[in-house]
Amino acid sequence: MSDILKASRPSGRSRRPKTFDEGRTCAASGCITVLSRYNRSEYCNTHKPVKYPRLRGVINAED
Ligand SMILES: [Zn+2]
Repeated sequence: MSDILKASRPSGRSRRPKTFDEGRTCAASGCITVLSRYNRSEYCNTHKPVKYPRLRGVINAED
């Protein structure tokens, strides 16, 4: 019964590692930095959004 599984051809497509298009460039205007296929960001290291650490003592205007 289990021979049916062996007989089925493996699908090569489903085994590909998750990568992104090769040759993508940074989304920032004028930037021609090519992004790595493994870079999930649309920006290069220079232009990727910076996550600022939470600063203590910052006055919140809405508070
Ligand atoms: Zn860039």
